Amino acid sequence: MHEYSLASAIVTQIEEIIKKYNVIRVKKIIVSASPYEMVIPDLLQEAYKIITHEMEKFKDSELLMEIKAAEITCIECDYTGEPTEEGDPEFAYNFLCPKCGSRDTHINMKQMIIETVDLELSEE
Ligand SMILES: [Zn+2]
Repeated sequence: MHEYSLASAIVTQIEEIIKKYNVIRVKKIIVSASPYEMVIPDLLQEAYKIITHEMEKFKDSELLMEIKAAEITCIECDYTGEPTEEGDPEFAYNFLCPKCGSRDTHINMKQMIIETVDLELSEE
């Protein structure tokens, strides 16, 4: 399951933060992904709950996912950024470059990014 490995990677990164700081508990994690990463938010949350089920510092925490705009790179003119329109199935979902109008573009697949981590820290 794609979502399970993503959730697992998120938890691993948060655990690194917990090790560094005096964290009492994790309250909220916000991650972002482009719609073309094919991540199903419900499945991601479910996997997160399974993974953190017996982890005390993750008790009652929530994982939220935001969808970010896709980013493309144009092979013709090197433009990198948001496309102007949705991919067209006739062109194998290649996006239209807003700079030169070429469809010779590819979507930049980025790993899911952790945007915000809301932690409860010890005052000591
Ligand atoms: Zn271009």
